[in-house]
Amino acid sequence: YKERKRKPDWMKRVIPGGDKYADIKAKLRELKLHTVCEEARCPNMGECWGGGEGHTATATIMLMGDTCTRGCRFCAVKTSRAPPPLDPMEPENVSKAIAAWGLDYVVLTSVDRDDLADGGSAHIAQTIQLLKEKTAGRILVEALVPDFQGNMDSIRQVATSGLDVFAHNVETVPRLQSVVRDRRANWEQSLGVLRAAKELGVQITKTSIMLGCGEGKEEVIESFRLLRDSGVDVVTLGQYMRPTKKHMAVSEFVTPAAFEAYQKAAEQMGFLYVASGPMVRSSYRAGEFYLKNVLQ
Ligand code: SF4
Ligand code: SF4
Repeated sequence: YKERKRKPDWMKRVIPGGDKYADIKAKLRELKLHTVCEEARCPNMGECWGGGEGHTATATIMLMGDTCTRGCRFCAVKTSRAPPPLDPMEPENVSKAIAAWGLDYVVLTSVDRDDLADGGSAHIAQTIQLLKEKTAGRILVEALVPDFQGNMDSIRQVATSGLDVFAHNVETVPRLQSVVRDRRANWEQSLGVLRAAKELGVQITKTSIMLGCGEGKEEVIESFRLLRDSGVDVVTLGQYMRPTKKHMAVSEFVTPAAFEAYQKAAEQMGFLYVASGPMVRSSYRAGEFYLKNVLQ
């Protein structure tokens, strides 16, 4: 029955079209950038990419290829034990392309590369450094990174690369970790990554929880508490959407009112910024929170 449940009206949003959007898409092909925005057919593209009128132009770029060494139950990315080797030119090419695009804020994310000794941390750090160099520090960079299996050297390399926001997603509440995420991931390890980044001097740490996976209200609130205790500054909450029938089913479509209640509860617990809503993705309006809360 749950499988056949229809999307409620609040989950329907038209994927944007129009000239400006087509121009950006053409430019992306030319720059050979892979955006998560397009690959995930994210409903927020119009808003995020648009910029202008008080909005910050944001996009999410995927590094280290399209094949992940993990297989989380909610994720549509391809899996392999031995993905193709890293492209050593990627940090240079991607940073050049992003600088040419003229974004205000970029989210760099990646697949997990458990096949690499450092999990890809040097590659990510180099991309961030080059981006800052090529834009004279003008672009704000958020790195949404893997858990690096808790490897402190890797966490340090990224945390001290000059990024503005260090993000790592816990994805779900503690009890559902093994149901939702790959068996190599867990709550303690992810919380440890976020805590370590903060201790290494990162100004803003950020995480994301998908709702509608079978979690209870108290479990969500308890997660907020544990995140705050580990110094996490920003939390985003969105609805889990099943990418294909092979993936984990949606347990529930959480109502907009419930999202609002979570938002209030999290704000009262002292997070610097909370984004909570059915369509919210970890990178939704990422730049705006930064400009409003940190720079002013
Ligand atoms: Fe998807 Fe990330 Fe899990 Fe890989 S580690 S399967 S990219 S969610
Ligand atoms: Fe891209 Fe994230 Fe915005 Fe979606 S929410 S369009 S993935 S930047």
